[in-house]
Amino acid sequence: MLRKSFPTLFALIATILIVSSCSNEEEVVDNYDPARDYFTFANTEHFITEHLVLDLNVDFESEELRGFAMLSMRRLNSEATEIVLDTRDLTIASAAFLMEDSSASAAFSFGESHETLGTPLHIVVPADVGEQFDLMIEYKTSPQSTALQWLPPELTAGGKHPLMFSQSQAVHARSWVPLQDTPAIRITYEATVRTPESLLAVMSADNDPLTARSGEYHFNMPQPIPSYLLAIAVGNLYFAPLGEETGIYTEPELLDASVYEFADTQAMLEQAEAMYGPYEWGRYDLLVLPPSFPYGGMENPRLSFITPSLLAGDRSLVSVIAHELAHSWSGNLVTNATWRDGWLNEGMTSYFESRLMEVIYDVKRVDEERVLMYRELLLDLERVPEHMQALAPRLDDTTSEDFQGGIHYSKGQLFLEFLEKAFGRETFDAFLTSYFQEFAFGTITTEKFMDYLEANLLSEEGSPVTREQAEQWTYQPGLPDSVTIPTSENLDTAEALAHAWAGSEIDLAAVPVQDWSPQATIHFINSLPADLSGDMLGELDSGWGLSETTNAEIGRTWFIQVATRRYTDAYERMEAHLNRFGRGRLIAPVYGALASNGKDRELAQQIFERARGAYHPITAGWIESGLYKSD
Ligand SMILES: [Zn+2]
Repeated sequence: MLRKSFPTLFALIATILIVSSCSNEEEVVDNYDPARDYFTFANTEHFITEHLVLDLNVDFESEELRGFAMLSMRRLNSEATEIVLDTRDLTIASAAFLMEDSSASAAFSFGESHETLGTPLHIVVPADVGEQFDLMIEYKTSPQSTALQWLPPELTAGGKHPLMFSQSQAVHARSWVPLQDTPAIRITYEATVRTPESLLAVMSADNDPLTARSGEYHFNMPQPIPSYLLAIAVGNLYFAPLGEETGIYTEPELLDASVYEFADTQAMLEQAEAMYGPYEWGRYDLLVLPPSFPYGGMENPRLSFITPSLLAGDRSLVSVIAHELAHSWSGNLVTNATWRDGWLNEGMTSYFESRLMEVIYDVKRVDEERVLMYRELLLDLERVPEHMQALAPRLDDTTSEDFQGGIHYSKGQLFLEFLEKAFGRETFDAFLTSYFQEFAFGTITTEKFMDYLEANLLSEEGSPVTREQAEQWTYQPGLPDSVTIPTSENLDTAEALAHAWAGSEIDLAAVPVQDWSPQATIHFINSLPADLSGDMLGELDSGWGLSETTNAEIGRTWFIQVATRRYTDAYERMEAHLNRFGRGRLIAPVYGALASNGKDRELAQQIFERARGAYHPITAGWIESGLYKSD
């Protein structure tokens, strides 16, 4: 999935559980089916979609996509009399079945809406529809579409043209296309997109860097993908190459900075192929979006969507690029069957990211990032309830509004590092390469993965790991004793100096911050004791210019501390940070810290109300759920 953000997904699992278990709690637990996707209305056991044709007009004035979707479907059950599709806030004008030499309009109706799942669209299937048919749906989206953000010119880098983009993962594709919105189904697609003439459209498909601006663009995606990887963006976008198969799309104002920051992308691609086999998608380009993009990156195939908050000027935050690229194997090629198996996307990608960073940069840098990841995991384990801490959490009837945080990323990575250490890097790399081949363009459940792991590694004679030990990671809360805790000499030094300075043993001038990575600075800030005086925070702020930092991750770390410690001298700059970025990871925890410091919930709400117009609906939803919950 997405880069260590503010995953609400497991909150959703919990919510759905609560909703679905109201009638008979015990029955739900007894009938628990780990392979079932709880996030879709689609009756994929009766019908599946194989191909999608989109024809869309992009209307910036009404903030709508208008046109049709044609689903090429196959009937799996000859008795089934209706198709159920996922939708959210869509207006459907008509539906029709297109058979080989006839067509028939179809009766359709909406079912009851659900807060998380949207609204099921029921379509009556005529008796004479054969095994294969096309279902044509004319529709338009709503300005409230949870996937789409429509940015007025003033919220773009250039300030002259509007821009729109989508974020489909996890359950938002249904808010711009009526479809079977589940990772269990893979589709190929083609699209025609009409835009204002001066703008360029791009999709998670075969973008051609040489396309002329015409206002009408055609796309083809020949490799089957799950619906959450459908993606579109339209704006004043231009292209610059990075390498033979890699390049950047962004507004011209961000092009040079992006080319500099992400210059190692081609090398990453080549290294990834050397490690785990061929890149199966053709080109690999990046789309650098305006600051309101809700995530660090989104692994839309052939075209990762990227936050501009990575443009630190020193390539210090490019592990996100390694992450999104790695998803071309773990996630896009081999896809979690349901969101409950999200660790197979995210944990494996985090592991892969780390391995790539080690080769492209060095092991010291990776160790720093691993220590920060581990620290975030410990925070997650403090706040996520036990029953959601397993990598593949089991749905149960516990009332909870909590979520898994980034556990599926970080604990997943540590699990794979544990396996690597036990079997040796060479053996484990060979295992992963064969895994990607075996399940390419397919889906994977935790159970299927464990079976494959057992068949290929665990059952070998003298295997250092039993299935039972491996399952501690996937089915038990917390961390098994077998975990290797990441360490970094650089960060140990930063931590020791933080304690020494806080204890007045040394002057701030004796801390060699100018020689440090941003990661070391972050660790120093996070290592300061809770009772540090306001005067010392002020000394640190003015000495290191923390409130003015151009590094988004340092800013995030600092302003979480500012809010937690009520260092009000920096509140104005904190609000500027909350206005500058719309990426959930950078701002949601700052709002959270402000709202929970005992005094500033109202202030947090006021700042949010002032800023929310510039946030993507997904980000606004995260913040809102934290700010307005009663506690
Ligand atoms: Zn990811």
